[in-house]
Amino acid sequence: MTTSTPPSLALADVQRALERQLEERLAILQALQPYALPTVDPVAFQTAASHRAVIEQITAALNRITRGTYGLCTRCGRPIAPGRLEVLPHAAACIECQSHADAA
Ligand SMILES: [Zn+2]
Repeated sequence: MTTSTPPSLALADVQRALERQLEERLAILQALQPYALPTVDPVAFQTAASHRAVIEQITAALNRITRGTYGLCTRCGRPIAPGRLEVLPHAAACIECQSHADAA
């Protein structure tokens, strides 16, 4: 065992937080599922769709942790600002790339 600071320590925390979020979202989605049809309850349908999108983003972030690319922008490959990851742990792109994506 070495005493050098392992960056995996913080990553383990992020991973736990993401897994917890994933579980919460999946539980909400499961509860919504019976009504989440555009013909039955359009609001539930919209809500379920947005939960599904976030679940995909969280899953992708967990995959990036596994692959060791977590915290890097998936578009330009530069590190995402730590402050942004604090607010949005499953952020896939840096603020600059994301703002381009939002504008599109
Ligand atoms: Zn970027």
